[in-house]
This record gives sequence, structure tokens and C-alpha cells, in this order.
Amino acid sequence: MKKIIGIPVSPGVIVGKAFRYMENAMNEILHYAIPKDLLEAEWKRFLHAQAEAVEEIQVLQEQLAPEQSQKEQLDILRAHRMMLEDPDFQEEIKTNLEENLQNIEWIIQEVSIGMKDRLRASGNAFLQERAADIDDVCNRLLYKLLKVKRFPLKNFDSDVILVCPDLLPSDVLTMHRARIKGIALEEGSRTSHTAILVRAFAIPTVAGLSQNTRDLKNGDLLALNGDSGEVILDPDPAILAQYQRAQEHYHRHYTQLKSLRELPAETKDGYRVALKANIEIPEEAAQLAQYGAEGIGLYRSEFLFLASGQFTGEEEQYQAYTQVLQNMGNLPVTIRTLDIGGDKLLPELMEKNEKNPLLGWRAIRFSLSHPDLFKKQLRALLRAGAQGNLRIMFPMISGIEELEHVGALLEEAKTECRRKGQTFTEHLPIGTMIEIPSAGLTADILAEKSDFFSIGTNDLIQYTLAVDRGNEKVGYLAQPFHPAVLRLLKQIIDTAHSKGLSATLCGELAGDSAATPLLLGLGVDEFSMTARSIPQVKRVIREADITTCRSLTQEALQCRSYKDVARLAQAWTAAHLPEGKQEKNA
Ligand code: PEP
Ligand code: MG
Repeated sequence: MKKIIGIPVSPGVIVGKAFRYMENAMNEILHYAIPKDLLEAEWKRFLHAQAEAVEEIQVLQEQLAPEQSQKEQLDILRAHRMMLEDPDFQEEIKTNLEENLQNIEWIIQEVSIGMKDRLRASGNAFLQERAADIDDVCNRLLYKLLKVKRFPLKNFDSDVILVCPDLLPSDVLTMHRARIKGIALEEGSRTSHTAILVRAFAIPTVAGLSQNTRDLKNGDLLALNGDSGEVILDPDPAILAQYQRAQEHYHRHYTQLKSLRELPAETKDGYRVALKANIEIPEEAAQLAQYGAEGIGLYRSEFLFLASGQFTGEEEQYQAYTQVLQNMGNLPVTIRTLDIGGDKLLPELMEKNEKNPLLGWRAIRFSLSHPDLFKKQLRALLRAGAQGNLRIMFPMISGIEELEHVGALLEEAKTECRRKGQTFTEHLPIGTMIEIPSAGLTADILAEKSDFFSIGTNDLIQYTLAVDRGNEKVGYLAQPFHPAVLRLLKQIIDTAHSKGLSATLCGELAGDSAATPLLLGLGVDEFSMTARSIPQVKRVIREADITTCRSLTQEALQCRSYKDVARLAQAWTAAHLPEGKQEKNA
């Protein structure tokens, strides 16, 4: 038996067999010269890889062929195979190899970039969409040349606990979620988008295990605890019994909490707030009622695009937004416009690795530099607005100029809807996400162009404390109770209220019940979180009274360090919650 400890990312306990997964991103393709007399050998390497790639596709085609419903995938595979076998494609690679005398991997990469550039320059939307296919075909060749094994995360015939260095958000969207019962990651942190997704899908997960997972082998029996962050290799019978009890307790606890569903999120002295859900895929909307969500406070629309790996068209977006709105009836739904970049890359649109992606071409910056794509999304939202109670908001606003630019494009989008005779909502409430310190510090100015603020603490903490939210090595610094974060939150919320706006908090902090009394005291009007956290946060609210929470917050704002604030929050729990009182008396 061996125990390793990481960062608890998604709650729940699970015992199961390890499945080691190695995703090789191939960010770095080596580049070296080939002497003339080795040209023939280099070309043979290509032919060998090409034959292997064709064979691999053939196997996939045979597996899919009996299924009528798989027609679309079969068409894609057929197209990929045609490209691999296309004499012109081979000729282009051969000519390039002979002219440039560089290793074949590098040549394939260069040819693929050239082909994609030509498609993009064609101005033909259909051809432009084929760029992703070129990547797929060339990557398949490169995987063969580099002897990288890629296991699809889709084909499991038994339950597994996935063990791997890291996962992309798009991996989580496309993997076999019914079979992957737990996840152990070497890297990652609580607020990465991968973490947010695994929580949404209720997959117990531990991240930041560093290289300790390297000893784990395929088929090893593991016990994984997503609440404590422990992963135990070869658990003994006592541990297995303990995990069994924990699973039963977990189930009971959640069932009890769900019974709070119909009760209001109101303190003992009658102070009412709203508890809403964050969602990542439209299908989640149908499950929110069971947790008592009073609406959707954040729909991260980019996952619609990440799931397919390409830009989703206006019509498809309209359908997805309408589905969400119709599922929610009259309840308010806040949809955030595209927030790609950082750890959420859309290969079709973003090819080059940025040096500092989290400070780079992300979110509203990306949307504003692609006005046509952005207006497609705005039109889809304006039209969907006629189907329910919709508000929209914009991510990573850093100053008023961006909001003004957004406003101008929104007006253009309305004009375009009008010209096409489309039904749409003229006045959708507009929200500004406050997740960059500059936005927080100029909230009074941003309020002029906003109907509400939504505070994204995941990014606000990252940018205020200069801590990469996905890097486990500096995760210890990402402290929501840091005095700088508390002061900034107070300033933003006070400014919102003084301007007559409501303040929503939609970062992961909203679902952390240890922070609930402080957030109540700060004046947060709406909390938006992973739906599963709603009952527990509601329970804390119903045990609290607003007067005490306000004094607690006043005291916390005087603290010198996050540790002092954490101690205050713990003392509050000990004094107000039944489990805290029990612990105190024990
Ligand atoms: C945030 O930054 O807190 C937020 C809600 O947005 P995201 O986590 O998607 O960046
Ligand atoms: Mg954010």
C-alpha cells in the first residue's frame, strides 16, 4: 500500500483500476538537416508512417461501419484517408524534402501550415473549415513517425480511474465520462477549466500529484478521495471498508442536502440572496432544478466551440442557447460570450503558442479582433433572447474602451438582425465580468455601460496575486482570503451598489461554503457555482445572520494575512454550524 497526496479538485470517493493515459501534445517538433545521401531513407520513413496511418484509419472504418448513426465520422475518416493517399499531397512533401533537406517531421509540419494558409486565403468558408482535417491527418502521420501512442479516451469497456500528466478541457468534453469514474492528474489546480469541468460532471478528481503518479501502472487498484486529495495504491481491506463507508455517507449527505431545494437562500434574519448555477454544456441545464438553482449565473459558451474543436455557426449557437433558455423556463440565464485562449485553445483559430497565453489573446480581446465571428455570437444571443429570460456578459474586460467597442458591435448585430427580418430582443441586460484588477479599480466607470457586474474570482485572484491558476507549483499562493483580494472585492461590490447595480460572484469561491459568511458580509447579491455546491452553500446561509456576517467581514478586512482570515472563518463555522459545534464540544 502506498499513499500519495495531491490537490482535491472534485469531491467524491472511488475505488477502481488505474488506466494510464499519456497525451503527447507534440508542441516541439525537432528541426534538423538531412544529408543528401540520407534523403531516400527519410522518404521511406514517410512512406512507412503513411502506410501505418492508412491502416489505422482502415481499422477505425471497420469498427464504425456497422453503425448507421456513425455516418458523419465515417465521412471524415474517408476524407482523411483520401488525403493520405493523394498523390499530390505526397508529391508536395517529397518536393519539399528534396528542396529543403530537413527532417521529415519538420517538412510535414511546414507543408501542413502552407496548405492551411492556402485554404484560409481561398475565402471559401467550406474550404476554410477543412483546415482542421489537415491538422488531423498530419498529426496522425507525426504520431506514427515519433512513435507516440495515442489512446482514444472514448473506448473503454470497463470502469477506470484515469491517471495522466494533465487533461485538456476538450479531453474532458469528449471522453467516455460514464466509464471514467475518477481522475488522478500530475498537474493542474482547483480553478483550471479542466477542474471546473470534472466538477460539473461529478467525477472525483485529484490534481497536482506531480511525478508521484509515475509508479502507478495500468490495472493497479487505486482508492481516490476527491475531498482529501489522497490516492492510495493497493489499498488494504481496512481502507477499502473505509472508502465503502465514505461512499455511503456521501450519498446520504447529498440526499439530505437536496431536501433544501425548495427552501429560500435566506439568513435567519431574513436577508435573501440568489443561488444560481454555472454550466459548461447545454445538457446540464436540465439537471439544475434538483439542486434548487434559481437560474444560470454563468454559461461558459466557449465549451460549445471546444466540444467540436471549431467555431460553431450562428444557427447552431442559437439552437444551443434556446435549448438552455427553454429548459430554464422563466428563470434568468446569463450567457457569457466566448472566453477562449489561456488554457482553452481552439486549434482552428489559434495556432501559434503564445508566450504568456493567460496575459494574451484571450476572451473579449479575441472576440473584438474577430468582429465577424463575434457578431455571429451576438446575433445568436439577441435572437435567443426572445426565447426566455436572458442576460449576456463579457469576459476579461480591462477598461471602458473595450465595453464601448462591444456596445458598438452589439448595435451592428442588431441592425443585421433587423435587416434579415429576424426576431430578437432589443434590450438584453448587459453584464461586465470583473476579473482583472484594472476592471475592479475602475468599476465606477464600467458601471456606466453595465446593467450588472459578475465577479470572476478565479481570474481576479490569478491576476491580483500574479499566480497562474493552472500551475500546481504556485497553487499555495492562490489564496481567496488574501487581504488584497478581500479589499478589492469590497471595493467592487460597494461600487456596484453605489451605482445601483447588483453584484454576482461566479468564480469557484462562490461554491466554497467556508467563504459564504464572508461573501454575505461583503454584500454579494448572487452566488453562481457548480450546481452540486448549491445545497451546501444554502445550508450555511440558512444558519447565518447577516449582522454577524457583516461584523465578521469588517474584522476580516483588518487582517494582515490570509491565515488570520481563514482562522476567523473557521471560528465562525465552529460557532454557527452544527458540525462545528459538535467538533468544539468533542
Ligand atoms: C472566473 O474567472 O472566475 C470565471 C468565472 O471565469 P472562468 O473560470 O471561466 O475563467
Ligand atoms: Mg474568468
